[in-house]
Amino acid sequence: MAKSKYEYVRQFESATDHHLLLDSYIVVRVDGQGFHRFAKEHNFLKPNDKRCLDLMNRSALHVMKSFYPNIIMSYGQSDEYSFVLRRMAHLYNRRHNKIISLITSTFTAGFLFYWNDYFCDQKNPNLIAKKPLKLTQTLKYPPTFDGRCILYPNESTLMDYLRWRQVDCHINNLYNTTFHALTGEYTHYEVNDDDNKFIVTFPYSETKLSKLSTNEATKRLSHTSSSDKNEILFTDFDLNYNNELEQFRKGTIITLNIEQIDRLLSDQKSINYYIRKKSLQSKNSLVEKPDDQQFELLNVDIIGENFWKKYGPLLKL
Ligand code: ATP
Ligand code: ATP
Ligand code: MG
Ligand code: MG
Ligand code: MG
Ligand code: MG
Repeated sequence: MAKSKYEYVRQFESATDHHLLLDSYIVVRVDGQGFHRFAKEHNFLKPNDKRCLDLMNRSALHVMKSFYPNIIMSYGQSDEYSFVLRRMAHLYNRRHNKIISLITSTFTAGFLFYWNDYFCDQKNPNLIAKKPLKLTQTLKYPPTFDGRCILYPNESTLMDYLRWRQVDCHINNLYNTTFHALTGEYTHYEVNDDDNKFIVTFPYSETKLSKLSTNEATKRLSHTSSSDKNEILFTDFDLNYNNELEQFRKGTIITLNIEQIDRLLSDQKSINYYIRKKSLQSKNSLVEKPDDQQFELLNVDIIGENFWKKYGPLLKL
């Protein structure tokens, strides 16, 4: 195609679109914009609306499948998700702008695409609420996510990054659980062993316990330690924090499953083969995607060594 005289302006792009350092872990973290308000406007349950956390997981799985096999694991809690790219990932020539914008918009698109599966009552039969939920079946406005990109130079800083996010999850969740118990808005979830459905109850909304206002609860919790909060929950509310769902206390890790990791590791060529095959496919054809069974959703501790003993090989991919 003939070039126009305006073509030269493309050169200006190079000043802002750099290539990320080779041989390092790229992490992209997306975070809901103004989700404090979004949660309020859509009547989210407190302190955790499981529907939204499940939707976040679904959106993250969509991202992992779309970028397969470049994303080796992801970790999500609250309104954020972190995606870890394999050290040798070479997608889009590691162009910063492409990677950050595509992961963020793929996640956002997934969140919107799957919204109804989680927030439309008829479609989400996994929750049984003991009191009618204030439902917001349709979105009141389009939610957005910001995205940032961080480089970690080695396994130990990458693992510490993920530990940092899980510690953040724990601190916030313990605070929010105690806070909403004090204000009487706490929602309890229990798994029904027969059918694995979640029973949702509101144990303190109708009790005679005096409910604190937002200001009072904030004051009550200022300068309290973790064990103070555990104690408040236990003595005032008969609630053992350790019985809260692990999904709330630990967040969610999505990884390639062990068989996949072994297969890809034992045959490094298969990753390269897959990538080559993908790039050879015409842009318009649907790219082959792995199915859900090739991934694992875990709600486990990633601060200690056990998780890394088993899943450490991920970082070698
Ligand atoms: P920013 O735009 O700076 O990220 P934000 O309002 O999104 O602002 P965050 O620090 O990201 O603030 O916190 C997210 C907030 O969204 C939480 O504090 C909580 O109020 C709400 N939220 C997110 N997910 C859920 C959920 N699954 N259930 C209940 N509330 C949630
Ligand atoms: P890339 O991912 O590299 O951007 P692409 O397939 O999106 O690849 P573009 O160069 O961005 O390629 O071109 C967009 C293409 O999408 C057009 O060539 C055209 O085929 C199609 N397209 C976009 N908008 C319209 C539209 N409004 N009507 C018809 N076709 C459209
Ligand atoms: Mg923020
Ligand atoms: Mg946010
Ligand atoms: Mg957040
Ligand atoms: Mg295009």
